Amino acid sequence: MNDSATIDYRTLKINGVYQQNNAGDLMLRVKLPAGVLSAVQAEVVCDVSEAFSTGMLHLTCRGSLEFHGLRGESLPQVFRRLNTVGLTTRGACGGAVRSIACATAEGVGSARIQMLARRLHNHFTGNPYFEGLPKKFKLGVENGYQGARHLFQDLVMVYLGREEGRDLCDVWAAGGLGHQPQEGFLLAGRVPFERLIPLVEGVVKVYRQHTPAGKRLKHLLAEIGEIEFRALLARETSGAPVCPVASPFDDSLGEALTPGACGWIELPVFAGQLPTADLRRIAAIARELGDGFLAISREQNLLVSLGAGVDPVPLNHALDATGWLKQGKVLQCRVCPGSHACHKGLVPTRDIARQLDEILGDSGRGLSWAISGCPNSCSQPQLADFGIIGVRKGSEAKEALYDLYRRESDGFGKPIREKLTLGELLQAVSSLV
Ligand code: SF4
Repeated sequence: MNDSATIDYRTLKINGVYQQNNAGDLMLRVKLPAGVLSAVQAEVVCDVSEAFSTGMLHLTCRGSLEFHGLRGESLPQVFRRLNTVGLTTRGACGGAVRSIACATAEGVGSARIQMLARRLHNHFTGNPYFEGLPKKFKLGVENGYQGARHLFQDLVMVYLGREEGRDLCDVWAAGGLGHQPQEGFLLAGRVPFERLIPLVEGVVKVYRQHTPAGKRLKHLLAEIGEIEFRALLARETSGAPVCPVASPFDDSLGEALTPGACGWIELPVFAGQLPTADLRRIAAIARELGDGFLAISREQNLLVSLGAGVDPVPLNHALDATGWLKQGKVLQCRVCPGSHACHKGLVPTRDIARQLDEILGDSGRGLSWAISGCPNSCSQPQLADFGIIGVRKGSEAKEALYDLYRRESDGFGKPIREKLTLGELLQAVSSLV
């Protein structure tokens, strides 16, 4: 670990580390259950970033945190510091059940879906039976059917509510974005919570056993079809015992202790870039005037928890004084690191977000935007009102090129203009908005 030439990057991947470039810079991703972290954890994250990274954090649209520009020799100290406050990076990259995207701050029932996401996180993170998969396996926990979010992940649980003392979910499978976007299908309807973990386990086992290396669940479905997939899944899940998600404690006291039990205050973070100085200030306010919890939203914003018993007036007042509460002061644009920090990135995503903000002004702020640095679509551009994907890297000889997507139906957004130069792209969005 002391010599970057001898670092085993394949082993590090499962521990959340990616190589950013050939100069030895590394990215480390931290998995946060339901996107939630305590103020104490946030302060340690700031310490780590300032000591070993750039003092700037990237918030992802799956509710994770990324450090960029780390060096291999600092990883032991970084892992140790994160471990002291129970933060894990295990399975944040590589062939594992990744961070669970959760609609933590969205709608009624947030406490139940947080509990489900946390339970799934605890069950699958670091579990050797669910590592070494052909490729990443993405889970989502949704709170209803807004925004087509049930269609784009390997497995998505859509919370339907509580009936006769039982929490129920619809389960959607085999969706994905990337080079071959594929909308998921309804695998099982009205599944009670205690049947979810055996079902997810069954799907992951089928995926592991029948999918070639490097392929996602959607590829397996394309190859064998839904009927064969269901037959394989029935074999895996037949006789599987139920596995409770909630204990009697969760059902009584648990909800009152859940972060965000009375809602969340959202602080916009432009392009998911959060300076540690700002996070420290917000964490201190959450600790002193809130219940001590924060979260990362799927729009890459920071959320401050209104836990049970928190007086929102002084909390809002203190946050207002930071200047962060000016909702809509920036363009709401999900942004992946692009060529700024990802070795696959073809275009500088944050620079483009800044240019869009400048040229669109208020007219762009009522819409959702997403920019991805390459066709892998990590910022989910097909789920935004307008999505932008970098499709060619710029060079001295050729300009970078972009595809522009528009979402106007219940499904994924579709490309409306392709292979645009930056000038053509900015002109196109100005005329459309
Ligand atoms: S979309 Fe491409 S550039 Fe952006 S983070 Fe994903 S792989 Fe990297």
